[in-house]
Amino acid sequence: MANGEDRMTVGTRGRRSKLAVRGSTVLSAATSKEEKPRTKGAFTDESVAAKKRRVRRILAALHKLYPAADCALRHNDPLQLLIATILSAQCTDETVNKVTPVLFARFPTAQALGEASREELEAVIHSTGFFRQKAKSIQATCRKLVAEFDGQVPDTMEALVTLSGVARKTANVVLGTAFGKNEGVVVDTHVGRLATRLGLTWSSKDTKDAVKIERDLMDVVPREEWTFVAHALIGHGRLVCSARKPDCPHCTLAGDCPSAGTFEDAGTPSPGRLSR
Ligand code: SF4
Repeated sequence: MANGEDRMTVGTRGRRSKLAVRGSTVLSAATSKEEKPRTKGAFTDESVAAKKRRVRRILAALHKLYPAADCALRHNDPLQLLIATILSAQCTDETVNKVTPVLFARFPTAQALGEASREELEAVIHSTGFFRQKAKSIQATCRKLVAEFDGQVPDTMEALVTLSGVARKTANVVLGTAFGKNEGVVVDTHVGRLATRLGLTWSSKDTKDAVKIERDLMDVVPREEWTFVAHALIGHGRLVCSARKPDCPHCTLAGDCPSAGTFEDAGTPSPGRLSR
C-alpha cells in the first residue's frame, strides 16, 4: 500500500478491475446544492451513539455510490491475492495486475513459487519495485505454506501474520476479500485520510496511525461492513476526497463530514478531529 506493507484500491471482484459506481460518475450522485455541509462545530463532542448513527448514514451513501466496491487486485484464489497484495507494497494495482498473470502462469502454486529460481522470480516482478525484498518474502511465505499449511493459504489472522511479509493489513485484505471474513478493517493511505477527515477516528495521532485508526473504525462500523467500508473509502478517496484536492462541494458525504468546507485551498487540509 501507499503508506505501508500493502495497497488496495476499489475495483470489482476477481478478474474484473473497473470501479463500479452507480450512475455515470461519482459526481452524478453527489450532494445536491441545497444540502449544505454542516460545520465542523456540529460534530464536536459527538457521542458514540451519534457517531454510530452518522456512520450508518455514511455507509448507506457509500453503498449507493459503490455498490460493487471490491479489491482491485486481480486474483483467482487466496494464494494469488496474498501474493498480489505483497507485490502491491509501494506499487500501483495496475502494475501488479500486469505482473501477476505472467507470474502465476509461470509459477501457479505455492510450491512452484517457493522452489523458483530467485533470479527468475525477481525478473518477473521487477517492475513492482523493491523486487529483491518482495521475492524473498514471497518465497519464504510460499515455503512456509507448503511446509505448514499443505500449500494452502490459512484463513485465520493468527496464522496469516506468521507468514513473511504479511502484517495485519495484508491479512485483513486476504481474510476479507478471499475468505469473506470480517476480522478487521484494511487501513491504507486512503482509508487513513478519509477516516480522519470524516471524524471516524479519535485516538490516532495522524492519518498514518493505522493501528489506532483501524481500532476506532472497528468500534463504530458494524462488523459486517468492515471489508466493504475499506473498499468504498478507498474508492471515494481516489475519486472525490483526494489528498490534495477534496471535492467537498460535490461530495455525497458532505452533510455527515466534519471536514466539509474546511479546506482553505488544495493541499492545505484542516481535518476535523473529533472528541469522542
Ligand atoms: S473532506 Fe470533503 S470530499 Fe472528503 S469526505 Fe469530507 S466532504 Fe467529502
